[in-house]
Amino acid sequence: MTATDKATQSILIIGAGCFGLSTAHHLASSGYPNITVLDKDSEVPSRFSAANDLNKIIRAEYADPFYTDLALEAIQKWQTDPLYKPHYHQTGFLNVVSNAAPPETKHVIEKYLASIENHAAFRDQVRRVNGPAEIKDLVPAFTGPVDGWSGYYNKLAGYSHSANTLKAVHAACLTKGVKFRLGKADGEVESLLYASSSRQGSTACVGARSRGGKVYLADRTILAMGANVPTLIPSIGKQMTGRCWGVAHIQLTAEEARQLGGIPVTNVRDLAFFFEPDRETNKLKFCHMGGAFTNFAGSKDGLSLPFSSISESRFIPADDECYIRRLLREVLPRFAERPLIDQHLCWIADSHNSDYVIDFVPGTGASLVVLSGDSGHGFKMMPIFGRFVQELLDDGRQSQAKWRWKESKPKTGSVWRSGDSQELAGLARARL
Ligand SMILES: Cc1cc2nc3c(=O)[nH]c(=O)nc-3n(C[C@H](O)[C@H](O)[C@H](O)COP(=O)(O)OP(=O)(O)OC[C@H]3O[C@@H](n4cnc5c(N)ncnc54)[C@H](O)[C@@H]3O)c2cc1C
Repeated sequence: MTATDKATQSILIIGAGCFGLSTAHHLASSGYPNITVLDKDSEVPSRFSAANDLNKIIRAEYADPFYTDLALEAIQKWQTDPLYKPHYHQTGFLNVVSNAAPPETKHVIEKYLASIENHAAFRDQVRRVNGPAEIKDLVPAFTGPVDGWSGYYNKLAGYSHSANTLKAVHAACLTKGVKFRLGKADGEVESLLYASSSRQGSTACVGARSRGGKVYLADRTILAMGANVPTLIPSIGKQMTGRCWGVAHIQLTAEEARQLGGIPVTNVRDLAFFFEPDRETNKLKFCHMGGAFTNFAGSKDGLSLPFSSISESRFIPADDECYIRRLLREVLPRFAERPLIDQHLCWIADSHNSDYVIDFVPGTGASLVVLSGDSGHGFKMMPIFGRFVQELLDDGRQSQAKWRWKESKPKTGSVWRSGDSQELAGLARARL
């Protein structure tokens, strides 16, 4: 696309979460002067965004080397780009299983390790760790038995304060002239608008209408609504499902937090993962990342969608609490009975094989783009994600087969999930 084409194109981005903000910032930085971003929440970071959180893991081990290379490129940006660097903490990543883990979970750890141990970027960065003595030698702050823990430690990884990253990218977008329209009336999109006269075989999307009736017209409309995207294009439900995991915190005192400062992001795959205490709030965050939960009961159209209000997502299933408390007894027993606060469900757009979907919606003549299928691993790409969208717009087609719109399920499923997905309706809830 030429500079003149860019200068005359209007872009409408629906969703100011991780993918939407990265895209807005990248396009604004590369010469698109007319970008408007809509979001249903009245503030950025949106309380509906999966990325609005204390922290997200930044690591490059993947069963698929394609994502390893992209994540390495993103890590380089996290380390050096003045926009992203202040939020990144390279504490390392301890990826292990406990004694009780089933063989398939142990196998996933081996696959992850295999993806990086012979990779040039990880020379001298990765080592196996086996058993309590080696774990405690690495992290003396772990006072529990850590019985039978084994796996590996990767120094070239860590976490980012994700809410603060969203805030920073939002501010950077504002300075580049990106317009934001927020809140239920102006920012929450109820429907897409299509041209009444259509060219043969395609119907152009010409913008969107908000709940309050505001009409936004644009040459290109980009959907970046996370797990909510099927509310506007239900046909994407064939290739992705809204799923969630439970997240909870425990509150530490400043002294307790100080004792755990600098520990690696620790993922005990069969139990839960956690980070060093948040540097602003002294909270420890936990998430049991099993097969995730669906909400098919919430939709008449056979889709699993997030709850529409924030309050409905404020709990975690009772099983998640059990996993988190088992983990605490293993690693930090003095906190094992502390209340699990800030409980909430965090929603992702889950594709069948964990590939993103970054493509034009078929039949819309390149006027409508969808950014979806984050599958729970999108945040780490935030510094480079917008480039993927720019390349799509420039090329006029998705040259990366993995990221194309798909009409059917791929033959291979996701390799890294522990356990099957469960429907939320009827599940017992954790203690508050
Ligand atoms: C528990 C959990 C842990 C995770 N951990 C990691 C991790 O460690 N590392 C990692 O890389 N990734 C992680 N992720 C994944 C990461 O958070 C997502 O990949 C990323 O947030 C996806 O970005 P998105 O823009 O597609 O969606 P979101 O960030 O969810 O943003 C969607 C936006 O769309 C807006 N929206 C929705 N509907 C409408 C509408 N109708 N009109 C206007 N706006 C609307 C929402 O308000 C929101 O701002 C995790 C996710 C979860 C749930």
